[in-house]
Amino acid sequence: MKKIIAITMILLAIMCFIIVFNAKGVESSKLNKDTLETNFSDIVPNNINLEDIHTPKLEKIDDISTNTNSSDNEETIPISLDGAIVPNNQKLSVEIKKKEVKREIDLKKPMVALTFDDGPHPEFTNSILDSLEKYNGLATFFVLGSRAEKFKNVIKGITKSGSQIGNHTYDHRELTKLGSKAITNEITKTANILQNITNIETSIVRPTYGSVNDKVKLYAGAPLILWSIDTLDWKNRNKEMIVKEVLGEVKDGDVILMHDIYKTTAMAAEVIIKELSSRGYQLVTIDELYTAKGIDLVNGKVYENAYVKK
Ligand code: ZN
Repeated sequence: MKKIIAITMILLAIMCFIIVFNAKGVESSKLNKDTLETNFSDIVPNNINLEDIHTPKLEKIDDISTNTNSSDNEETIPISLDGAIVPNNQKLSVEIKKKEVKREIDLKKPMVALTFDDGPHPEFTNSILDSLEKYNGLATFFVLGSRAEKFKNVIKGITKSGSQIGNHTYDHRELTKLGSKAITNEITKTANILQNITNIETSIVRPTYGSVNDKVKLYAGAPLILWSIDTLDWKNRNKEMIVKEVLGEVKDGDVILMHDIYKTTAMAAEVIIKELSSRGYQLVTIDELYTAKGIDLVNGKVYENAYVKK
């Protein structure tokens, strides 16, 4: 009997030992887990996966832009000048000074507006700006919102030079094929991008392909600027042909259409700017041209030239 009691006691002792040992093990591993979690939360905010931190999500731009409370689908792309995404409620302080040059436009002398579409281009837009600067000339650049986003510095360079920026839609869709909401979206999306970069409101629109109908007139919300001389530079890609087209046709009040995304156009522009200047033409922006000619630019109205009937 004594033997049985002794064996039972030994077995009980062994069981107690096992239970206590296991409990300690659990506790120590639990403690380790707590410590790990505590350290982890020191570095990483709640609910954020480390993977998210190491892989920035570019589509966040879209997230923010579609989160606006605006009722008319107006989209803003809140990107600061250094490319960082900023919340919508944070005001951007953008200050780009326009060239402080007093533009004296002689109303008795002839003037033309050179206009360049489909840019900006990092090389050719800048080379056109250089040519203009040599002759104290300015031009108007009808840019695409999608390209303005890519080449912000070129946009800033245009504004700094004193030249004008106009709206040529976001991604070059033909406005006459769109509904009213999409027309407004193409224009306002681009206008917002340009204003975020330059801090200047764009006031004029050049409809893509020169296509205009009543819906475009109504929903573009700006004067629609067409042209009186078409160089067909996009088609001929020929410096001599572009130069000949302009210099052979030009007269006071003309609006000349070119595209600053081709090398041949940039090369032709250099010759055109030099020659027109030596003929006494003043190279002016669209705003300067119509102001000088005493013609009001009205929203929804189409303008092809600034000829004044004598
Ligand atoms: Zn175009």
